[in-house]
Amino acid sequence: QREEWRKLRGEATVSVDGVHVELAANIGTPNDVAGVLDNGGEGVGLYRTEFLYMGRDKLPSEEVQYTAYKTVLEKMEGKPVVVRTLDIGGDKELPYLDLPKEMNPFLGFRAIRLCLDRQDIFRTQLRALLRASVHGNLRIMFPMIATLNEFREAKAVLLEEKEKLVAEGVAVSEEIQLGIMVEIPSTAVLADQFAKEVDFFSIGTNDLIQYTMAADRMNERVSYLYQPYNPSILRLVKMVIDAAHREGRWVGMCGEMAGDATAIPLLLGLGLDEFSMSATSILPARSQISKLSRADMEKLAAKALDMQTAEQVVELVQSIEA
Ligand code: PEP
Ligand code: MG
Repeated sequence: QREEWRKLRGEATVSVDGVHVELAANIGTPNDVAGVLDNGGEGVGLYRTEFLYMGRDKLPSEEVQYTAYKTVLEKMEGKPVVVRTLDIGGDKELPYLDLPKEMNPFLGFRAIRLCLDRQDIFRTQLRALLRASVHGNLRIMFPMIATLNEFREAKAVLLEEKEKLVAEGVAVSEEIQLGIMVEIPSTAVLADQFAKEVDFFSIGTNDLIQYTMAADRMNERVSYLYQPYNPSILRLVKMVIDAAHREGRWVGMCGEMAGDATAIPLLLGLGLDEFSMSATSILPARSQISKLSRADMEKLAAKALDMQTAEQVVELVQSIEA
């Protein structure tokens, strides 16, 4: 099996009936890029920039960030790199920001909420990204977007920083795609409206499941409610994909579900364009998809959407493997 996977390293990911999807990787640091290329990744679907901010005693400078982003873009040699702006809060803390303790950190002051408030932090990151953009194929993604106004505000800040840099004579790419994570149910439900304004979506199922099921993703006692295959989750995913495709946008997924062998047939059938996962899952996923027909998986997904429970969906998917 490993031999078979190795052979797929330089190959595209194509279903039996000729549908191409993109398999990308989630990374946390520039050091992870070697593993992405080694495992045949077609891009970086999620660069979690939190690690630049963690494990130090103050905010990373624009220069430190610029170097990290440039390194990743250069090493990926023109393949797409989706960089997510700072997603701190929830389970990830930054002691030096000295933020007040909250009752419900996962529902609190985090990610884009913090960035729109602490614009000094946000602008520094955006400047570093814009400067790095000329070194590869950069895509910028905002986390935890709950409303259109948040997206518009964040985009306006990005455009302001871009104009400033251009006025300073700094080169900035004109090709940067701008997207959002879909990880809050309000945004999934309103995906048709968002799709008119963003270049792409990336579905963050780790949070989307937790917020849809109201089950803390870290809490063992409610883990039985953390159900990726619950038809409600699949319907949300479908809404997002259909809304995006109607506007000609592409949709990725960067939550754990994208690399899950049970989920992949369903996601292929729902029309997902890009799957972003840990690098070591890429070759097994490519092998799996190369044996599936998208037309058949569309039928499978349609059946799953009409089911009542997660257990039934899992059974359905297992029936095709048997
Ligand atoms: C997600 O929520 O699915 C996601 C990819 O982001 P994180 O796991 O970093 O919250
Ligand atoms: Mg998330």
